[in-house]
Amino acid sequence: MIGVVGGGVAGLAAAYRLQQRGREVQVFEASDDVGGLAAVYETAGDPIEKFYHHLSASEGTIVELIEELGLGGDLEWRYKTDSYYVDGVVHPMEKAWEILAYPHLSIYDKFRLAMLVKEIDVRGGIPRFDTYDDITDFEDVPIKEFLLDHTTRHVYESFWEPLLDAKFGSRKEDVSAAWLLGRVKFRGERDVIRGEQLGYLEGGFGVLLDELYEAVGTENVTTGARVTGIGTGTGAAADGGSAVADAAAAGGGGPSVESITVERDEETETHDVDAVVVAAMPNVLEDLTGYPCEIDFQGTVCSVWSTDQSLSDTYWLNIKDEAPFGVFIEHTNFVPPERYGGEHLYYTASYIQSPEEDLWEMSDAEVEEYWADGIEDMFPGFDPASVNWVQTARNPRTAPIYERGYLDMVVPYDLSEEVAEGIYYAGMASKAQYPERSLDGGIEAGYACADLITGDR
Ligand SMILES: Cc1cc2nc3c(=O)[nH]c(=O)nc-3n(C[C@H](O)[C@H](O)[C@H](O)COP(=O)(O)OP(=O)(O)OC[C@H]3O[C@@H](n4cnc5c(N)ncnc54)[C@H](O)[C@@H]3O)c2cc1C
Repeated sequence: MIGVVGGGVAGLAAAYRLQQRGREVQVFEASDDVGGLAAVYETAGDPIEKFYHHLSASEGTIVELIEELGLGGDLEWRYKTDSYYVDGVVHPMEKAWEILAYPHLSIYDKFRLAMLVKEIDVRGGIPRFDTYDDITDFEDVPIKEFLLDHTTRHVYESFWEPLLDAKFGSRKEDVSAAWLLGRVKFRGERDVIRGEQLGYLEGGFGVLLDELYEAVGTENVTTGARVTGIGTGTGAAADGGSAVADAAAAGGGGPSVESITVERDEETETHDVDAVVVAAMPNVLEDLTGYPCEIDFQGTVCSVWSTDQSLSDTYWLNIKDEAPFGVFIEHTNFVPPERYGGEHLYYTASYIQSPEEDLWEMSDAEVEEYWADGIEDMFPGFDPASVNWVQTARNPRTAPIYERGYLDMVVPYDLSEEVAEGIYYAGMASKAQYPERSLDGGIEAGYACADLITGDR
């Protein structure tokens, strides 16, 4: 049997692919439900993700899986609307003419910004089309230095810096230019007239998780089951931190995985396994095996507001001004409110760099009160009485800091050399989750581990 640690999209994808290749699998999920970061809330209509989700056109693996599971007809590509909130005004920034009308950048600034986004290097006056082909060339280049060189100071300060503040906070200057270029490539083609399309699954991405869960077989997934140890060839199940030591003690001779230990209903179970896929955050991998991952993660606090009121025409509102949240997303300007029984749904969210940040220390009720005031400041027409419900989710590890040298820190899929034969890693610190963590990346990582186990890769 192959044990999978974690019932998020990566663990379920690994299990699904392993079963397709004829392997017996058991997924162990610590919480009471599968889905991990893609979990949902109920609404008066379709469920809504606790953390905002959509697909970019460049993501193919998830689209194939959606089709394979018979959900292809439910995948919708919708034009999004992006805006920038500056000095109390919402400036649409999606379509070419909207960007041209944006008053806070000069024509020259916009030209330099557009050229970078189109991946054309115009430094020195002679356009070059291959400068950005290999993003690894920019892995060690600080993002600020790169943007000052490849656009203008004003583009950096008025456009990129507020976005980097919202995304990486105090860690923004650690991020590499390779991450930015990777993101530019990750986004889909943009129609000059209508802007960019994003993908969404009718009924929400919970439908995909549910279908995957069904496909794997509910009898092959145990929820409420926390994996607490991985036992290797030296014998006893290891309660954290010993598999790497075993590998070292064996002098590279190679212990191999034998069992996993699971805490469930206050009981401890041990299961014999032929291999283990750890499909969880790298701190879980470290607890189970001692494998240290140097990637820093940031957390997220994210509230979903159900109201009777639409506040703007925009889906994604970036905020240049000081605001209590990093982004305001009116989901029902992307997917219509009729899908949610007429509820208008917004997200307010902030990334957290340290557990000492005030926001992280606030209770959910305090966050919601603070953010309600922030919404009212931004949208004076906001009526707090229009709020039907608000729910807040938080997680201390939701996205890596894509700092310089990141690719040297990713955790390999196959940890046979580093830990023990038969241990694989499909969590967010894997290569498939670069330059952006995504459902697609989770599926790719799960598939990669499965293919390595079955020898198909
Ligand atoms: C704010 C935010 C916005 C996002 N936006 C998008 C987006 O627009 N598009 C997109 O595609 N993706 C988006 N993502 C990313 C996407 O949600 C993740 O990449 C994906 O869900 C990660 O899946 P995973 O299976 O690797 O990890 P997770 O979802 O974290 O699953 C890991 C699972 O392992 C379980 N676990 C942990 N420890 C143990 C243990 N010891 N034993 C058993 N189980 C354990 C956890 O309970 C969890 O269920 C977003 C994420 C966030 C937070």
